[in-house]
This record gives sequence, C-alpha cells and structure tokens, in this order.
Amino acid sequence: MDKMVSIVVPCFNEQEALPIFFDEFIRVFKELEYDWELLLVDDGSKDDTLAIMKSLSAKDKRVRYFSFSKNFGKESAMYAGFCNARGDYIVVMDADMQDPPNLLPQMIEILETKEYDSVATRRETRSGEPPIRSFFARSFYKLINTISDSEIVDGARDFRLMKRDMVDAIVGMQEYNRFSKGIFGWVGFKTYWLPYQNIERVAGKTKWSFWKLFKYAIDGIVNFSQVPLSVTSWLGIIMTIASFLALVFVVFRRVVFGDPVAGWASTVCVIIFMGGIQLLCLGIMGQYIAKLYLESKKRPHYIIRETNVEAAKKCG
Ligand code: UDP
Ligand code: MG
Repeated sequence: MDKMVSIVVPCFNEQEALPIFFDEFIRVFKELEYDWELLLVDDGSKDDTLAIMKSLSAKDKRVRYFSFSKNFGKESAMYAGFCNARGDYIVVMDADMQDPPNLLPQMIEILETKEYDSVATRRETRSGEPPIRSFFARSFYKLINTISDSEIVDGARDFRLMKRDMVDAIVGMQEYNRFSKGIFGWVGFKTYWLPYQNIERVAGKTKWSFWKLFKYAIDGIVNFSQVPLSVTSWLGIIMTIASFLALVFVVFRRVVFGDPVAGWASTVCVIIFMGGIQLLCLGIMGQYIAKLYLESKKRPHYIIRETNVEAAKKCG
C-alpha cells in the first residue's frame, strides 16, 4: 500500500496566498506516488480564508479543514494539525510559499533512503532582512543555545517533514506554552538539515512585528531554560558579598582615618541600583510563575468551530 503524507498548513488571513499554494501543491504531488491529505487549519482568520478552504475541500475530498473559534496562534494551529494527521509522513509548512512545495519530493526521498526521522529546513543566509533584526536574531540563538539543553538551530524554519513516531512524540508533549523550535529539538530523533534560500512571501503580509518577535524570543528562553532563575540567585549572592565587603571597608576607614562617609549622591545611587536589581529578579521569577499559572489552568490549546472532519481530535 502507498504511504500517506499529511500536509499541515496553518493559515491566518491567507486568502491571497492559499489558492496559489494549493495549485502548486497539486502540481508537485501529481508527480509523486504517495497518498496525501491536506490539513488546512484556519487560525481565526478575518478574511475569506475559510471560504477558500471550503471550496478546496469541495473540489478534493483529501482536503480537510479545521476552523478555530478565534486566533490561537501558529503553534496551536500546528498542534491541531499534528493531532489530526493520519499519514506516515507529516509535513508542516506555511501557506505563503516561503516553504516551497517543490522541495517536498527531495525531502521525502531523504526520509525514504537515509537513516533520518525528520528533514528540516534552514535558511543559508539572512539576506533580505533588516540588519538590526539579523543582529538580534543571531544574538538570540547564541544566547539560547548557551543556556538551554535543547538544541535550537539558527535559521531553522518550521518547514519540516517528520515520520509518524516523531510526531507522536510531539503530540505527547501537551504543554500549553508551545515553542516549536524548542520542542522539535527536545524530542530528539535524527534530523537532516536541508539548506535553502530565503524567499519572499507571494501575497499578503507577515504577521510578525519586531515586538512580537521579541516576545517570542523571551518565551523561547523561559520555556526551554532555567538559567535565568539561577542567574538571579547568583546575583543575590554576589551582591550580598559585595555589600559586606563595602561595609568592612567603610567601618575600617572610619576607625583608622576617622573619615565618615561623605556624599548623599553615592548612597542614593546604591539604593536605586539595588532596587533595580531586585525588580529585575522579581520580573524574571514572574515570567516563570506566569507560565506555571497558565499551565496549571489546563486550558485547551484550541477550540474548533467548524470542520469537515468527523470526530476531529482535541489533543491536550
Ligand atoms: N499563522 C497562523 N497564526 C498566526 C500567525 C501566523 O496560523 O497567528 C500562519 C500564517 O498564515 C503562515 C504561517 O503561520 O502560514 C507563518 O506566518 P508568517 O508568514 O506571517 O510568518 P513568517 O513566514 O514571516 O515567519
Ligand atoms: Mg511567511
């Protein structure tokens, strides 16, 4: 029997890109001897994305769609796709053609012929990106790989083909705060890295602003590293030792030279400095507590409002 490939496509306001994607996708799969199912996840789009999904599924029975009750984010959309995928191979890709469907035959071949469980893509260069953004992105990857146990590859896209076992492992990770770049690395398995050139999206706009990316980076760190927490305790220890030494110094100077500490400004600086450090540490702890709070509520990852799939699964 032919193997089946499940293609998961998270879509948020992709009415322009989706039809282009679908045509290209069909063209690519005509040449392949694989069964396929397309899982289109409408992440609470405000445009005609859902209508397009419905018309595509009317054209071809292998198109399954899930429409969320609101925007839950790309992570939730991917999770919904993974939970409901039935294929032997599962691929997740964007609707905007930045993850070109014509790479799929090559990716499938790598899984078939070599000893790999997953084929992931990474872009070779960051050309076409504003230099400041590249700088922050590079620094982020350097930092997180130093302080996290999970390998997070610089330039990795979410575009990835995986075998069933790996997807089952990912679905088994039911954490509410999902940071896929970390999750893919955490589950392990053998991954083949396929380099490719970055391309512009065909239509529509990117959903990422600088601020959103910044928050995403902080999330990644909090989700996959406890190092910031230890840094706060180390800071506390260092400050305590430093202030004790300063105290000894001041007492010594008073006794030996009879020189009382002069200066109001220096005292205020120290107080403000300490206040700043304390608030910073509280803030870091707060980030972790906030995650804990959200996890403990056990809210669903997504809510499906409409679908053409009987018994669509709600994992987690
Ligand atoms: N996306 C989504 N939910 C969101 C934001 C984005 O499902 O809240 C989808 C979007 O439709 C696209 C993919 O995630 O298919 C990547 O989004 P985008 O192209 O904006 O990101 P970029 O490629 O610029 O990183
Ligand atoms: Mg994109």
